Amino acid sequence: MIIDERMITYIHSLEGPENPVIEQIEQEALDTHVPIIRKETQSFLKVILMMKQPSRILEIGTAIGFSAILMSEYLPEDAQITTIEKYEKRIPIARENFRRAGREGQITLIEGDALEIMGTLSGTYDFIFMDAAKGQYIRYLPDAVRLLSDGGVLMSDNVLQDGDVIESRFAVERRNRTIHSRMREYLYELKHHGELMTSILPLGDGIALSVKKRGI
Ligand code: SAH
Ligand code: MG
Repeated sequence: MIIDERMITYIHSLEGPENPVIEQIEQEALDTHVPIIRKETQSFLKVILMMKQPSRILEIGTAIGFSAILMSEYLPEDAQITTIEKYEKRIPIARENFRRAGREGQITLIEGDALEIMGTLSGTYDFIFMDAAKGQYIRYLPDAVRLLSDGGVLMSDNVLQDGDVIESRFAVERRNRTIHSRMREYLYELKHHGELMTSILPLGDGIALSVKKRGI
């Protein structure tokens, strides 16, 4: 937990209800321990989407489709979402959830490894939600920047690893050390990338919000 627990509880208490299908899918994800975007990050995402009004959205890491469906509620009607997932067990559940939410026409799920798939994508996206394996973000970055339109927004989730990122490498559990150093490298890269302007926010599990500079 990065932020004081009582503060989070308070922020959550201000949230209103969501569309019932979305709330059901959220509850199913929580019950089955599928990692989904946290409540306080959800409202931030909604605000960014309503400000930006993107028409082409790319998501890396579908899980069971919760965040894709949530995003679809706050997008212009003709917006299209492409989402990538490699875990076979989650793919049919995500497809079924898109159907339940009546969003099959708006959300396209591509099965496979995000790095491989991103390399085959063309055209540009106005909004990219990076939410897959944290240790891989640094490898997805060149394609993400290539695929972003001018003024396009990249939102990366879980970048502060429950606060681990500020600890010394040796204070982090051994199995998390590779992710730890790769995440530091990713954040450094986001902040020093010539084509991006980035703000890192200690919201949820840590968010990095980047915009691709125009005319570079
Ligand atoms: N965005 C979802 C949560 C995604 S959890 C939500 O908020 O509802 C992260 C997902 O990324 C997991 O389901 C995992 O299987 C997937 N993932 C991890 N590495 C991947 C890769 N290399 N390619 C595609 N998907 C990947
Ligand atoms: Mg996440």
